[in-house]
Amino acid sequence: VWSNVQAGPPDAILGITEAFKADKDPRKINLGVGAYRDENGKPYILPSVQKAEEIVLASVPNKEYLPITGLPEFTRNAALLAYGTESTPLKEGAVAVTQSISGTGALRIGGEFLARHYPKSKDIFLPAPTWGNHIPLFRDSGLNVRSYRYFNKETVGLDFAGLKADLEAAPEGAIVLLHACAHNPTGIDPTPEQWAQISDIVKEKKLFPFFDMAYQGFASGSTTKDAFAVRHFVEQGHQVALSQSFAKNMGLYGERVGAFSVTTADAAEKARVDSQLKIIIRPMYSNPPVNGARIANAILSNADLYTQWESEVKGMADRIISMREKLYNSLQKELNTPGEWGHIKSQIGMFSFTGLNPSQTKALAEKAHVYMTHDGRISMAGLNGGNIEYFAQSVDKAVRG
Ligand code: PMP
Repeated sequence: VWSNVQAGPPDAILGITEAFKADKDPRKINLGVGAYRDENGKPYILPSVQKAEEIVLASVPNKEYLPITGLPEFTRNAALLAYGTESTPLKEGAVAVTQSISGTGALRIGGEFLARHYPKSKDIFLPAPTWGNHIPLFRDSGLNVRSYRYFNKETVGLDFAGLKADLEAAPEGAIVLLHACAHNPTGIDPTPEQWAQISDIVKEKKLFPFFDMAYQGFASGSTTKDAFAVRHFVEQGHQVALSQSFAKNMGLYGERVGAFSVTTADAAEKARVDSQLKIIIRPMYSNPPVNGARIANAILSNADLYTQWESEVKGMADRIISMREKLYNSLQKELNTPGEWGHIKSQIGMFSFTGLNPSQTKALAEKAHVYMTHDGRISMAGLNGGNIEYFAQSVDKAVRG
């Protein structure tokens, strides 16, 4: 039956993990995966998450199905975390929100919802480059995937002029995907002033903003600061769609905890949107998994645990920031590696776009046992006190050729 099925290409990032696993050299480093690692290179279970799990277990919860749109307390608290307690649409009961299978699931529900119900356009503009999965995800949702300039190779910074020009030239009403903070893969975010300008263009061109917030708290260490773009757009009167993930900021990767929301005109509109979200979700997976949402909600609904969690998120962000500092110092000051490495320090979040080219990344894998994506993206979380010096020396050698 399946003789006509062609073998598809392997997943770009999972392929790196396989090559890393097969490598027997003790110095090997995997900077491909986008999961936080502690100072010893090990997965990190947040102590606040451990406490939350104990609270959940102690309540002896049943295993009944959740409603189609998930655990209501969780979705309410997730929306509060993103939009803030002062959010007008939240106060007015005008935010439609559903639990989702982490960020990926939220984006997919959003893609499906827009493809069915957004009246003005099927075009969605993604930054170039963007998280690799955005492209097939929105295509499979039935949207027409297009792109806007984001990254400037020369400056290893934001191509703000290109971004503005492309959004200004987009057809009226088109959807624009914005990484709310800690842009993946570049680690480059617009400044608050630049966000304000983007908001103006989006308003002027009547574009529809869809925020992907996969790293709230992870970029700056502050969940409030990282929510700036989303909250600014809402304050400016935009109606937005939003995807949230708790994979990174709570370390709940495999628990698949997320939320998708849309701000609407009023409570009646919200109720209609809710009903359509249910119609999209029910035939896909009926209702979401319960455990992770309970854990996340135990944190979001308990003031002490919430404070502890915020300090642990900041701890992860700060460790990453200190690795950026160290790597910059090693390359720029100690090794005098050819090139300008300031971007390593100015970039933000889990990833850094190093500017290394495909032949350099290939040499790093083959000669130094250092693995990263071919575009030169590294997960900063894979670096630690034990491997950063070896990494810097290996980069230095690869750049010198
Ligand atoms: N959006 C972006 C920009 C991401 O980097 C990721 C994770 N790599 C996701 C969404 C989705 O992740 P998850 O489904 O694990 O929440």
